[in-house]
Amino acid sequence: MSDLERNLERAREYVARFEREGALHRIAGTSCASADGRTFETVSPVDGATLAQVARGGSAEIDRAAQAAAAAFGEWRAMPGAKRRKLLHAIADAIEARAEEIAFTECLDTGQALRFMAKAALRGAENFRFFADQAPSAQDGQSLFAPGQVNITRRTPIGPVGVITPWNTPFMLSTWKIAPALASGCTVVHKPAEFSPLTATLLVEIAEEAGLPPGVWNTVHGLGEEAGRALTEHEAIRAISFVGESRTGSMIMAQGAPTLKRVHFELGGKNPVIVFADADIERAVDAAVFMIYSLNGERCTSSSRLLVEASIHDDFCARVAERAARIPVGHPLDPKTVVGPLIHPVHERKVLSYFETARAEGATIATGGAKATGPGLEAGCFVQPTLFTGARNDMAIAQEEIFGPVLTAIPFETEEEAVRMANDVPYGLAGYLWTSDLARTLRITEALEAGMIWVNSENVRHLPAPFGGMKASGIGRDGGDWSFDFYMETKNISLATGAHNIPRLGG
Ligand code: NAD
Repeated sequence: MSDLERNLERAREYVARFEREGALHRIAGTSCASADGRTFETVSPVDGATLAQVARGGSAEIDRAAQAAAAAFGEWRAMPGAKRRKLLHAIADAIEARAEEIAFTECLDTGQALRFMAKAALRGAENFRFFADQAPSAQDGQSLFAPGQVNITRRTPIGPVGVITPWNTPFMLSTWKIAPALASGCTVVHKPAEFSPLTATLLVEIAEEAGLPPGVWNTVHGLGEEAGRALTEHEAIRAISFVGESRTGSMIMAQGAPTLKRVHFELGGKNPVIVFADADIERAVDAAVFMIYSLNGERCTSSSRLLVEASIHDDFCARVAERAARIPVGHPLDPKTVVGPLIHPVHERKVLSYFETARAEGATIATGGAKATGPGLEAGCFVQPTLFTGARNDMAIAQEEIFGPVLTAIPFETEEEAVRMANDVPYGLAGYLWTSDLARTLRITEALEAGMIWVNSENVRHLPAPFGGMKASGIGRDGGDWSFDFYMETKNISLATGAHNIPRLGG
């Protein structure tokens, strides 16, 4: 039996429950279907097979979930931070215990390769541990002294919050958003993406089995325009933490306006990797290839634009193209696979359409540029790792987020030109810089319009560091204490320390 066959057998055992029972909502500690019995299908991008019927929630289910979150809030916020910390560590333990089930289910539902999803499940546990440890001090504040006055600040959880997540790495992203909300003392209604809802069902179940009280975390499945919209419009929900496309973020802002929702948005990107001739070229090639072809390129921080100094451009691109052409495309559960199928035929069509766009715009397809074919790939959303060269920064392939294993390379002559092109997109999420010149590093990192910049490195996350984007890439930051700032209100209490003169009006 091959590794793939063995993994596939295990994965089928894991998802069999979803085939039998469907994926249900979890509201107030109970699994339930929608009141009107409506469902939608989640299909595997590997072969288009139906994995499960998923409960299709609407405003009735969101209302029940929001009420459950509101009812659970009082007790949850009052729980001592040390006790919340213990519970969140117990959730992390439970995630680790079921890491294989989570990873295998995620692979089948999203098409992401096991080599990355195995780590994503464990990173979910790490997210819980990181935020758990801050639960005891999350409400602490400062003392600010002034003549005759001392100010004491403290933070309190904002209330029940809505979390809306995308389909690309759903398990990891859900933990990244929900763990700090719970550590803050907020209760949660989660609306997972409709293209990959299965691991969100596992996650809330795991949390409750680990001891989370019912109603503290509720999950409602459904479509963005139905359940998602209802969540953003609900009176009892104080804030929305959203990860997804920029235009969805703008809709959510409008939908949340009547109830004055606080919003946190992590949106799209068209992130440049800028390579100078003085860089460590070997490592820069490794990083450029990794940051666009890992996670199927369905990654907000993917380095989807390659800006290379003209003197090394042709050689650098030739090396990237050669690597891209050798990347194994295949079944996500095959340990050898790097690029699996894209999430859904709708998304696959979008990515394939950019191959036509590139040709029409006059770019060169240095490698890839077509559906991937071969044994086992016939029925899935498989796309070849692709490199476009001969592009200009004003082309659609350099301006728009493709969200697939597709890289657009453009040469530059000067540092100024590199910075101008890097910034000349609507987005500002991440940037990657490769150079050995320190003064240039400081000039460029100062000038780049990006929330996160990695110098001589691929995306390596440090959880206490801020994560988020500028421009159309987002509003707000999370990571470290930034997450707590979003999920909490800061209250100031001002105490007089003497008998100062109070202006006497009317006396
Ligand atoms: P999407 O915006 O289509 O959907 C995201 C979520 O929003 C889904 O759960 C969807 O059902 C919901 N939604 C859709 N319309 C809604 C509405 N009107 N009201 C409320 N909710 C609604 O995004 P996607 O296609 O699932 O994910 C890919 C996008 O996510 C890419 O743009 C990617 O860059 C972005 N992303 C960003 C980050 C980041 O940290 N910046 C991380 C991962 C993904």
